[in-house]
Amino acid sequence: MSEKLTIHVLDENTSNKIAAGEVVERPASVVKELVENSIDAHSSKIEVEICDGGVKFIRVSDDGIGMATVDAKLAILRHATSKIQFVDDLAQISSLGFRGEALPSIASVSRFSLTTRLHKEPFATLVEVQGGKITETRESGGNVGTTITVSDLFYNTPARQKFLKTNATENGYISTILTKLALSHPEISLRFINNNKLVFSTPGTNDLANTIASIYGHKTASELLSVSYVDNGIEISGFLSKPSILKSSRNWQTFMVNSRVIQSRFIAKAIDSAYHSLLPKTGYPLAVINITLPQDYIDVNVHPQKSEVKFSNEQIIYRLVYKAISKALKEATQDHQNIAANLEIPVKKLHINTTFNSPRVSQEQQQTVSLWRDEPISFGTVQKIIQEENSIVCYDTVADGMALPDENEQQLSFQPLGQIEDCYIVARGEDGLYIIDQHAAHERILYDRMYNAAGRIPVQQLLTPLFMEFDSTELNIVEANAEVFHSLGFTLDLVGPNTMRLLEVPSDIPISEVEAIIREILTTLSNMQSPAPGELRHACLQTAACRAAIKAGDTLNMRQIKALLEDLFSTELPYNCPHGRPAIIKFGAKDLAKMFKRT
Ligand code: ADP
Ligand code: MG
Repeated sequence: MSEKLTIHVLDENTSNKIAAGEVVERPASVVKELVENSIDAHSSKIEVEICDGGVKFIRVSDDGIGMATVDAKLAILRHATSKIQFVDDLAQISSLGFRGEALPSIASVSRFSLTTRLHKEPFATLVEVQGGKITETRESGGNVGTTITVSDLFYNTPARQKFLKTNATENGYISTILTKLALSHPEISLRFINNNKLVFSTPGTNDLANTIASIYGHKTASELLSVSYVDNGIEISGFLSKPSILKSSRNWQTFMVNSRVIQSRFIAKAIDSAYHSLLPKTGYPLAVINITLPQDYIDVNVHPQKSEVKFSNEQIIYRLVYKAISKALKEATQDHQNIAANLEIPVKKLHINTTFNSPRVSQEQQQTVSLWRDEPISFGTVQKIIQEENSIVCYDTVADGMALPDENEQQLSFQPLGQIEDCYIVARGEDGLYIIDQHAAHERILYDRMYNAAGRIPVQQLLTPLFMEFDSTELNIVEANAEVFHSLGFTLDLVGPNTMRLLEVPSDIPISEVEAIIREILTTLSNMQSPAPGELRHACLQTAACRAAIKAGDTLNMRQIKALLEDLFSTELPYNCPHGRPAIIKFGAKDLAKMFKRT
């Protein structure tokens, strides 16, 4: 290279904008930094108001210690912080901030105004900054504490603006981070107002359960298990939902270390493992978990947004969280033999396999039978039912399973032979042997029926409406997609700050699956980035069909098998489920010959 390179020291404003790239990713990061500053300023009340996804306007007001005029001017300079002075201070840091980067970064990419007043001062100081340049400093009126206003975020960095999502999505991010901050400081009353609407307001009474109730609703809060576990000077505490209210995403999980909100994959994993070892269900419990440990067990300075911490020993923390969660779940089930009954899981089908001798099969041959019950039942009862119903169920299953073609059902060109592993249906067709995956088949049938419905999907009215609680992120998605939910056959209306009432649901969906389906659709919607309407409908129908379809493990009698095959073969694409997996595998005469090497 012949050209000579020249090295410049970047001016302050440029380096602030670069730092802003790390600290200020989106409106939610501004909200996070400002509220953390208010928490560090020993506030007892914090109010956050936003407009249009926070892009247009964010205001955070607190009643904390405030700043002197000279500090207010210093605060917007890079690396100006009152929280540490020396590197060694980092090891014992108890404040949320310490890098002195947030205010200058935010002020460099917005129109920024700070009003602050110390308790002992009669006046407040106002500092205004536009795109990183101070435009005004003067005395002004104002309450004790600090108010920061951030308008037109990223107005001078169009590249950043392009990365922003819809207002509804940005609202969701803000709501999520505020929820977590509010949960991590139940001693502070936090109010969140979005487009002039109160989203939540926490009581600030230092009671975590009440704080959870003020955010997630009383119904959710009343169904929580408390977590409390101490070992070796490390304490795990908080709340956890019963498996009956598993959520569709991890959005409902808040983890804290010494009251600092953190992201942590391995804590999430520990919770999953503890849960799923007890209950093989999919979904994520709501969790608010705080880990309290000596400050020198962790390093908080590993990430510019301070959202991750490094533990000196992750293994120990993983094990403690696992134990704490298992203990909470076990305590809740101690009085009963039956976890399901105690945790009020709406058990639709309780599957019990038992071995018995059938009167219709030879002495040595044994059959396995499954029983379905509509409500939780004790193991004693189960044994009785098995004894009572053995003969009946067995007779029915065996008789049907061995059924010879019925006179009046000859017209079906498929002759079902039986069910294998409660999962596959075996049938004889005119041209060979068919094996059908019962779940995939039913999924295809339901999907097509809903897809082909002219206009709105046929609905069933609920005699008693279902009530569902949503957090504000979910409410935003529901509201933004009201049309989609309506066309899918769901009629939902808002009846409380977090509660929606369901009046109508698609007629092909079992009521017990409705809540799970809606939550799964919400997850799908929040993961899709500006989908085409067709794509969206396909994804939603796929979810609904998959949830509503009979599962592997469901025992079917011969009538059900016949109905399923008839419906399947009247669809246009019987060979695949809506996800594209095979629903039918066929062995023609040639295939069979080949396999038996009969050439
Ligand atoms: P950091 O929080 O890392 O110190 P910031 O840029 O976020 O850096 O804030 C700079 C300084 O401004 C803080 O150290 C604090 O002294 C002061 N400050 C910011 N916000 C507030 C507030 N709401 N109340 C009182 N002081 C504040
Ligand atoms: Mg800060």
